[in-house]
Amino acid sequence: MVVRGKNMGDVKVENRAAVLNLLQAQGRMSRKRIAALLNLTPAAITTIVSELIENGLVREAGEAEVPYGSRNVGRREIMVEIDCRDLFAVGVSFGLGSCVISTMDLQGGLLASETMIFDADSGAENIIVRACNFLRRSIQRQESQGKTCVGIGISVRGIVDESHGVCINSYGGWKEENVPVAAIAAEHLSGYEIFLRQNVRALAQTYLFERRNEAIESMIFIKNDTGIGSALVFDHRVYNGHRGTGSEIGHITVDRAGKPCRCGGRGCLETVASCIAIERDIRQIYGPDATPLLWELTDGRLDQVNIGSIISAVEYGDEQVIAIVDRAVRELAMVIRSLIGTLDVQKVILHGQIFHYQYFFEKLKGEINFDQRYPFLNNLMDTTSHVQDLNNKCSPVLAIEAFYERGGRMERNS
Ligand SMILES: [Zn+2]
Repeated sequence: MVVRGKNMGDVKVENRAAVLNLLQAQGRMSRKRIAALLNLTPAAITTIVSELIENGLVREAGEAEVPYGSRNVGRREIMVEIDCRDLFAVGVSFGLGSCVISTMDLQGGLLASETMIFDADSGAENIIVRACNFLRRSIQRQESQGKTCVGIGISVRGIVDESHGVCINSYGGWKEENVPVAAIAAEHLSGYEIFLRQNVRALAQTYLFERRNEAIESMIFIKNDTGIGSALVFDHRVYNGHRGTGSEIGHITVDRAGKPCRCGGRGCLETVASCIAIERDIRQIYGPDATPLLWELTDGRLDQVNIGSIISAVEYGDEQVIAIVDRAVRELAMVIRSLIGTLDVQKVILHGQIFHYQYFFEKLKGEINFDQRYPFLNNLMDTTSHVQDLNNKCSPVLAIEAFYERGGRMERNS
Protein backbone atom coordinates (compact mmCIF):
# COMPACT_ATOMS: atom_id res chain seq x y z
CA MET A 1 0.00 0.00 0.00
CA VAL A 2 1.31 3.41 -0.92
CA VAL A 3 0.04 6.41 0.96
CA ARG A 4 1.16 9.72 -0.46
CA GLY A 5 2.89 12.00 2.00
CA LYS A 6 3.28 9.35 4.66
CA ASN A 7 6.01 6.84 5.20
CA MET A 8 5.44 3.24 6.17
CA GLY A 9 6.26 4.08 9.79
CA ASP A 10 3.32 6.51 9.95
CA VAL A 11 0.97 3.98 8.41
CA LYS A 12 2.06 1.34 10.88
CA VAL A 13 1.49 3.66 13.82
CA GLU A 14 -1.90 4.66 12.43
CA ASN A 15 -2.93 1.03 12.00
CA ARG A 16 -1.80 0.12 15.50
CA ALA A 17 -3.69 3.14 16.82
CA ALA A 18 -6.80 2.16 14.86
CA VAL A 19 -6.74 -1.38 16.30
CA LEU A 20 -6.22 -0.12 19.85
CA ASN A 21 -8.92 2.54 19.53
CA LEU A 22 -11.38 0.01 18.16
CA LEU A 23 -10.76 -2.53 20.94
CA GLN A 24 -10.81 0.28 23.45
CA ALA A 25 -14.18 1.56 22.22
CA GLN A 26 -15.95 -1.70 21.45
CA GLY A 27 -14.32 -4.32 23.63
CA ARG A 28 -13.14 -7.80 22.67
CA MET A 29 -13.57 -9.07 19.13
CA SER A 30 -11.99 -11.44 16.63
CA ARG A 31 -9.17 -10.53 14.27
CA LYS A 32 -11.53 -11.14 11.38
CA ARG A 33 -14.00 -8.59 12.72
CA ILE A 34 -11.23 -6.03 13.33
CA ALA A 35 -10.12 -6.47 9.72
CA ALA A 36 -13.67 -6.01 8.47
CA LEU A 37 -14.35 -2.91 10.58
CA LEU A 38 -11.04 -1.24 9.73
CA ASN A 39 -11.12 -2.26 6.10
CA LEU A 40 -7.66 -3.87 6.29
CA THR A 41 -6.58 -7.32 5.16
CA PRO A 42 -6.80 -10.18 7.72
CA ALA A 43 -3.07 -10.76 7.15
CA ALA A 44 -2.24 -7.16 8.09
CA ILE A 45 -4.40 -7.39 11.21
CA THR A 46 -2.76 -10.67 12.22
CA THR A 47 0.65 -8.98 12.04
CA ILE A 48 -0.44 -5.89 13.97
CA VAL A 49 -2.25 -7.88 16.65
CA SER A 50 0.75 -10.21 17.11
CA GLU A 51 2.97 -7.20 17.60
CA LEU A 52 0.54 -5.65 20.09
CA ILE A 53 0.38 -8.96 21.99
CA GLU A 54 4.18 -9.07 22.05
CA ASN A 55 4.22 -5.50 23.44
CA GLY A 56 1.80 -6.54 26.18
CA LEU A 57 -0.98 -4.22 24.99
CA VAL A 58 -3.43 -6.82 23.67
CA ARG A 59 -4.16 -10.38 24.78
CA GLU A 60 -6.16 -13.33 23.52
CA ALA A 61 -9.45 -13.72 25.34
CA GLY A 62 -10.92 -17.12 24.50
CA GLU A 63 -13.07 -18.28 21.64
CA ALA A 64 -16.06 -16.48 20.23
CA GLU A 65 -19.34 -17.92 21.45
CA VAL A 66 -21.25 -19.77 18.77
CA PRO A 67 -24.94 -18.85 18.99
CA TYR A 68 -27.21 -21.71 20.09
CA GLY A 69 -28.49 -23.64 17.07
CA SER A 70 -25.96 -22.02 14.77
CA ARG A 71 -24.87 -24.11 11.85
CA ASN A 72 -21.48 -22.53 12.00
CA VAL A 73 -19.40 -25.53 12.97
CA GLY A 74 -16.19 -24.28 11.39
CA ARG A 75 -13.13 -23.20 13.29
CA ARG A 76 -14.04 -20.95 16.19
CA GLU A 77 -12.55 -17.51 16.18
CA ILE A 78 -10.18 -16.40 18.89
CA MET A 79 -11.14 -13.10 20.49
CA VAL A 80 -8.59 -10.44 21.39
CA GLU A 81 -8.91 -7.55 23.81
CA ILE A 82 -6.92 -4.65 25.24
CA ASP A 83 -4.55 -5.67 28.00
CA CYS A 84 -3.18 -2.58 29.64
CA ARG A 85 -3.42 -3.74 33.23
CA ASP A 86 0.18 -2.80 33.89
CA LEU A 87 -0.13 0.72 32.52
CA PHE A 88 -1.54 3.89 34.06
CA ALA A 89 -1.61 7.66 33.59
CA VAL A 90 -1.67 10.51 36.08
CA GLY A 91 -2.71 14.11 35.78
CA VAL A 92 -3.44 17.35 37.54
CA SER A 93 -6.29 19.70 36.85
CA PHE A 94 -5.75 23.24 38.15
CA GLY A 95 -8.82 25.14 39.32
CA LEU A 96 -9.48 28.18 41.49
CA GLY A 97 -7.75 27.67 44.84
CA SER A 98 -7.39 23.92 44.40
CA CYS A 99 -6.28 21.26 41.98
CA VAL A 100 -7.20 17.62 41.58
CA ILE A 101 -4.49 14.99 41.14
CA SER A 102 -5.80 11.78 39.59
CA THR A 103 -4.58 8.36 38.52
CA MET A 104 -6.36 6.31 35.87
CA ASP A 105 -5.98 2.93 34.26
CA LEU A 106 -5.86 2.76 30.48
CA GLN A 107 -9.45 1.57 30.21
CA GLY A 108 -10.65 4.84 31.69
CA GLY A 109 -11.18 3.71 35.28
CA LEU A 110 -10.27 6.15 38.05
CA LEU A 111 -7.74 4.55 40.43
CA ALA A 112 -7.24 7.47 42.79
CA SER A 113 -7.83 11.18 43.11
CA GLU A 114 -6.95 13.75 45.74
CA THR A 115 -7.36 17.49 46.10
CA MET A 116 -4.57 19.93 46.87
CA ILE A 117 -5.56 23.33 48.22
CA PHE A 118 -3.45 26.36 47.32
CA ASP A 119 -3.41 30.11 47.65
CA ALA A 120 -3.38 31.97 44.32
CA ASP A 121 -0.98 34.49 45.89
CA SER A 122 1.65 31.86 46.64
CA GLY A 123 3.04 32.04 43.11
CA ALA A 124 2.47 29.93 40.01
CA GLU A 125 5.80 28.10 40.12
CA ASN A 126 5.36 27.19 43.78
CA ILE A 127 1.81 25.90 43.12
CA ILE A 128 2.93 23.83 40.12
CA VAL A 129 5.93 22.36 41.98
CA ARG A 130 3.72 21.37 44.91
CA ALA A 131 1.33 19.65 42.50
CA CYS A 132 4.31 17.88 40.90
CA ASN A 133 5.19 16.42 44.31
CA PHE A 134 1.67 14.98 44.55
CA LEU A 135 2.02 13.61 41.02
CA ARG A 136 5.37 12.01 41.83
CA ARG A 137 3.89 10.26 44.87
CA SER A 138 0.94 9.04 42.78
CA ILE A 139 3.35 7.66 40.16
CA GLN A 140 5.54 5.99 42.79
CA ARG A 141 2.52 4.27 44.36
CA GLN A 142 1.71 2.60 41.02
CA GLU A 143 5.31 1.94 39.98
CA SER A 144 5.93 0.15 43.29
CA GLN A 145 3.31 -2.36 42.08
CA GLY A 146 5.29 -2.94 38.89
CA LYS A 147 3.16 -0.69 36.70
CA THR A 148 4.34 1.73 34.00
CA CYS A 149 3.25 5.36 33.61
CA VAL A 150 2.33 6.32 30.03
CA GLY A 151 2.41 10.06 30.70
CA ILE A 152 1.18 13.02 32.67
CA GLY A 153 -1.78 15.20 31.68
CA ILE A 154 -2.17 18.77 32.90
CA SER A 155 -5.30 20.85 32.49
CA VAL A 156 -5.18 24.59 33.15
CA ARG A 157 -7.88 27.24 33.20
CA GLY A 158 -7.95 30.40 31.17
CA ILE A 159 -6.14 31.25 27.97
CA VAL A 160 -3.62 28.54 27.17
CA ASP A 161 -1.04 28.19 24.42
CA GLU A 162 -1.11 24.41 24.22
CA SER A 163 1.58 24.05 21.60
CA HIS A 164 4.14 25.78 23.85
CA GLY A 165 2.73 24.50 27.14
CA VAL A 166 2.17 28.03 28.43
CA CYS A 167 -0.74 29.38 30.46
CA ILE A 168 -1.13 32.93 29.17
CA ASN A 169 -3.79 33.99 31.68
CA SER A 170 -5.23 31.61 34.29
CA TYR A 171 -8.16 33.91 35.14
CA GLY A 172 -7.30 33.99 38.82
CA GLY A 173 -5.84 30.50 39.18
CA TRP A 174 -2.58 32.24 39.94
CA LYS A 175 -1.51 35.84 39.53
CA GLU A 176 1.29 35.56 36.95
CA GLU A 177 0.81 35.63 33.19
CA ASN A 178 2.65 33.55 30.57
CA VAL A 179 3.52 30.74 32.96
CA PRO A 180 5.47 27.89 31.25
CA VAL A 181 3.48 25.20 33.07
CA ALA A 182 4.68 22.25 30.96
CA ALA A 183 8.35 23.25 31.25
CA ILE A 184 8.15 23.66 35.03
CA ALA A 185 6.44 20.27 35.35
CA ALA A 186 8.95 18.61 32.99
CA GLU A 187 11.81 19.89 35.11
CA HIS A 188 10.36 18.35 38.24
CA LEU A 189 9.06 15.15 36.71
CA SER A 190 11.77 14.17 34.26
CA GLY A 191 11.36 10.88 32.46
CA TYR A 192 7.65 11.34 31.77
CA GLU A 193 5.97 12.93 28.83
CA ILE A 194 3.65 15.83 29.62
CA PHE A 195 0.42 16.77 27.82
CA LEU A 196 -1.10 20.17 28.55
CA ARG A 197 -4.59 21.36 27.64
CA GLN A 198 -6.92 24.17 28.42
CA ASN A 199 -9.38 22.83 31.00
CA VAL A 200 -12.68 23.05 29.11
CA ARG A 201 -11.09 21.45 26.04
CA ALA A 202 -9.73 18.73 28.34
CA LEU A 203 -13.24 18.18 29.75
CA ALA A 204 -14.73 17.97 26.26
CA GLN A 205 -12.03 15.51 25.20
CA THR A 206 -12.76 13.42 28.30
CA TYR A 207 -16.47 13.46 27.51
CA LEU A 208 -15.68 12.11 24.01
CA PHE A 209 -13.37 9.49 25.52
CA GLU A 210 -16.06 8.34 27.95
CA ARG A 211 -18.61 8.17 25.12
CA ARG A 212 -16.27 6.63 22.55
CA ASN A 213 -18.91 4.02 21.72
CA GLU A 214 -21.15 6.76 20.40
CA ALA A 215 -18.42 8.23 18.15
CA ILE A 216 -19.72 11.79 18.57
CA GLU A 217 -18.83 13.71 15.44
CA SER A 218 -19.61 17.30 16.44
CA MET A 219 -20.46 18.94 19.73
CA ILE A 220 -20.69 22.22 21.62
CA PHE A 221 -19.52 21.66 25.20
CA ILE A 222 -20.41 24.36 27.73
CA LYS A 223 -19.22 24.59 31.31
CA ASN A 224 -20.84 26.96 33.75
CA ASP A 225 -19.53 27.52 37.27
CA THR A 226 -17.05 30.25 38.14
CA GLY A 227 -17.21 31.42 34.54
CA ILE A 228 -18.60 30.15 31.27
CA GLY A 229 -16.17 28.07 29.25
CA SER A 230 -16.76 26.13 26.09
CA ALA A 231 -15.18 23.81 23.59
CA LEU A 232 -16.18 22.88 20.07
CA VAL A 233 -15.78 19.47 18.51
CA PHE A 234 -15.72 18.92 14.76
CA ASP A 235 -14.89 15.69 12.98
CA HIS A 236 -14.52 13.92 16.37
CA ARG A 237 -11.79 16.33 17.48
CA VAL A 238 -11.67 19.26 19.86
CA TYR A 239 -11.19 22.44 17.87
CA ASN A 240 -8.38 24.72 19.06
CA GLY A 241 -8.98 27.74 16.86
CA HIS A 242 -6.54 29.52 14.57
CA ARG A 243 -4.68 31.20 17.46
CA GLY A 244 -5.30 28.42 19.94
CA THR A 245 -8.03 30.26 21.81
CA GLY A 246 -11.03 28.84 19.98
CA SER A 247 -14.60 28.88 21.24
CA GLU A 248 -14.70 31.34 24.11
CA ILE A 249 -18.47 31.68 24.18
CA GLY A 250 -18.36 33.05 27.72
CA HIS A 251 -16.82 36.17 26.23
CA ILE A 252 -19.41 36.84 23.55
CA THR A 253 -20.73 40.35 24.19
CA VAL A 254 -24.38 40.33 25.18
CA ASP A 255 -24.58 43.83 26.68
CA ARG A 256 -22.29 46.58 25.39
CA ALA A 257 -23.02 48.71 28.45
CA GLY A 258 -22.70 45.76 30.82
CA LYS A 259 -20.33 44.96 33.67
CA PRO A 260 -16.57 44.75 33.09
CA CYS A 261 -15.28 41.23 32.49
CA ARG A 262 -12.03 39.58 33.61
CA CYS A 263 -11.07 39.22 29.93
CA GLY A 264 -10.79 43.01 29.71
CA GLY A 265 -14.06 43.36 27.81
CA ARG A 266 -17.47 44.46 29.00
CA GLY A 267 -20.90 42.84 29.09
CA CYS A 268 -19.65 39.36 28.19
CA LEU A 269 -22.07 36.45 28.52
CA GLU A 270 -20.36 35.23 31.67
CA THR A 271 -20.85 38.59 33.43
CA VAL A 272 -24.58 37.87 33.23
CA ALA A 273 -25.07 34.11 33.05
CA SER A 274 -22.27 32.37 34.96
CA CYS A 275 -23.07 30.93 38.39
CA ILE A 276 -20.93 33.51 40.13
CA ALA A 277 -22.54 36.36 38.17
CA ILE A 278 -26.02 35.16 39.19
CA GLU A 279 -24.92 34.81 42.82
CA ARG A 280 -23.24 38.23 42.76
CA ASP A 281 -26.29 39.98 41.25
CA ILE A 282 -28.64 38.40 43.77
CA ARG A 283 -26.39 39.15 46.74
CA GLN A 284 -26.51 42.81 45.72
CA ILE A 285 -30.29 42.98 46.20
CA TYR A 286 -30.52 40.38 48.98
CA GLY A 287 -32.75 41.47 51.87
CA PRO A 288 -36.06 40.81 53.64
CA ASP A 289 -37.92 43.21 51.34
CA ALA A 290 -36.36 42.62 47.92
CA THR A 291 -35.88 38.85 48.20
CA PRO A 292 -38.22 37.77 51.04
CA LEU A 293 -38.37 34.07 50.22
CA LEU A 294 -34.62 33.72 49.67
CA TRP A 295 -34.12 35.68 52.91
CA GLU A 296 -36.29 33.16 54.75
CA LEU A 297 -34.69 30.15 53.10
CA THR A 298 -31.21 31.35 54.05
CA ASP A 299 -32.16 32.58 57.51
CA GLY A 300 -30.91 36.06 56.63
CA ARG A 301 -27.36 34.82 56.10
CA LEU A 302 -25.63 36.20 53.03
CA ASP A 303 -23.09 33.35 53.10
CA GLN A 304 -25.95 30.91 52.44
CA VAL A 305 -26.81 32.57 49.14
CA ASN A 306 -25.63 30.10 46.51
CA ILE A 307 -27.04 28.52 43.37
CA GLY A 308 -28.83 25.86 45.45
CA SER A 309 -30.70 28.33 47.68
CA ILE A 310 -31.27 30.67 44.73
CA ILE A 311 -33.00 27.98 42.66
CA SER A 312 -35.12 27.01 45.69
CA ALA A 313 -36.21 30.65 46.02
CA VAL A 314 -37.06 30.68 42.31
CA GLU A 315 -39.22 27.59 42.73
CA TYR A 316 -41.03 29.24 45.67
CA GLY A 317 -41.74 32.26 43.47
CA ASP A 318 -39.37 34.97 44.77
CA GLU A 319 -39.95 37.53 42.02
CA GLN A 320 -36.73 39.55 41.95
CA VAL A 321 -34.64 36.38 42.22
CA ILE A 322 -36.60 34.92 39.32
CA ALA A 323 -35.96 38.06 37.25
CA ILE A 324 -32.17 37.74 37.63
CA VAL A 325 -32.07 33.98 37.00
CA ASP A 326 -34.37 34.27 34.02
CA ARG A 327 -32.27 37.00 32.44
CA ALA A 328 -29.21 34.79 32.82
CA VAL A 329 -31.05 31.86 31.23
CA ARG A 330 -32.30 34.04 28.37
CA GLU A 331 -28.87 35.42 27.48
CA LEU A 332 -27.27 31.98 27.64
CA ALA A 333 -30.11 30.56 25.56
CA MET A 334 -29.70 33.16 22.82
CA VAL A 335 -26.00 32.40 22.48
CA ILE A 336 -26.58 28.63 22.39
CA ARG A 337 -29.43 29.09 19.92
CA SER A 338 -27.19 31.12 17.62
CA LEU A 339 -24.48 28.45 17.80
CA ILE A 340 -26.93 25.64 17.04
CA GLY A 341 -28.22 27.60 14.07
CA THR A 342 -24.71 28.38 12.83
CA LEU A 343 -22.90 25.11 13.41
CA ASP A 344 -25.60 22.42 13.17
CA VAL A 345 -23.82 20.15 15.67
CA GLN A 346 -24.81 16.66 16.73
CA LYS A 347 -24.75 17.40 20.47
CA VAL A 348 -24.85 20.30 22.90
CA ILE A 349 -23.47 19.12 26.24
CA LEU A 350 -23.85 21.20 29.38
CA HIS A 351 -21.43 20.71 32.26
CA GLY A 352 -21.90 22.08 35.76
CA GLN A 353 -24.13 21.64 38.78
CA ILE A 354 -26.41 24.47 37.70
CA PHE A 355 -27.65 22.47 34.70
CA HIS A 356 -28.80 19.71 37.02
CA TYR A 357 -31.49 21.98 38.48
CA GLN A 358 -34.59 21.12 36.51
CA TYR A 359 -35.85 24.71 36.54
CA PHE A 360 -32.66 26.00 34.92
CA PHE A 361 -32.33 23.22 32.34
CA GLU A 362 -35.98 23.19 31.26
CA LYS A 363 -36.18 26.98 31.15
CA LEU A 364 -33.00 27.06 29.05
CA LYS A 365 -34.40 24.58 26.54
CA GLY A 366 -37.67 26.51 26.41
CA GLU A 367 -35.87 29.79 25.69
CA ILE A 368 -33.65 28.26 23.01
CA ASN A 369 -36.67 26.76 21.32
CA PHE A 370 -39.16 29.58 21.99
CA ASP A 371 -40.51 29.39 18.46
CA GLN A 372 -40.27 25.59 18.11
CA ARG A 373 -37.62 25.98 15.44
CA TYR A 374 -35.66 23.03 16.76
CA PRO A 375 -38.03 20.08 17.25
CA PHE A 376 -34.99 17.84 17.79
CA LEU A 377 -33.71 19.91 20.72
CA ASN A 378 -34.39 17.24 23.36
CA ASN A 379 -32.14 14.81 21.50
CA LEU A 380 -29.53 17.46 20.88
CA MET A 381 -29.04 18.78 24.41
CA ASP A 382 -27.86 16.87 27.44
CA THR A 383 -25.96 17.40 30.66
CA THR A 384 -22.84 15.55 31.79
CA SER A 385 -24.00 13.01 34.34
CA HIS A 386 -21.32 13.17 37.02
CA VAL A 387 -19.78 16.62 37.19
CA GLN A 388 -17.00 15.68 39.62
CA ASP A 389 -16.15 12.43 37.85
CA LEU A 390 -15.42 14.25 34.59
CA ASN A 391 -13.39 16.89 36.46
CA ASN A 392 -11.31 14.15 38.11
CA LYS A 393 -10.61 12.33 34.86
CA CYS A 394 -9.94 15.23 32.53
CA SER A 395 -6.17 15.38 33.06
CA PRO A 396 -4.99 11.72 32.93
CA VAL A 397 -7.20 11.19 29.87
CA LEU A 398 -4.90 13.55 27.92
CA ALA A 399 -1.99 11.13 28.37
CA ILE A 400 -4.13 8.04 27.76
CA GLU A 401 -5.51 9.34 24.47
CA ALA A 402 -2.04 10.35 23.29
CA PHE A 403 -0.79 6.86 24.11
CA TYR A 404 -3.51 5.21 22.02
CA GLU A 405 -3.16 7.78 19.24
CA ARG A 406 0.43 6.83 18.66
CA GLY A 407 -0.34 3.15 18.62
CA GLY A 408 0.73 2.38 22.18
CA ARG A 409 4.15 3.94 22.12
CA MET A 410 5.68 6.24 24.71
CA GLU A 411 8.20 8.99 24.32
CA ARG A 412 10.09 10.07 27.38
CA ASN A 413 11.52 13.42 28.27
CA SER A 414 14.82 13.44 30.11
ZN1 LIG B 1 -15.13 38.51 28.87
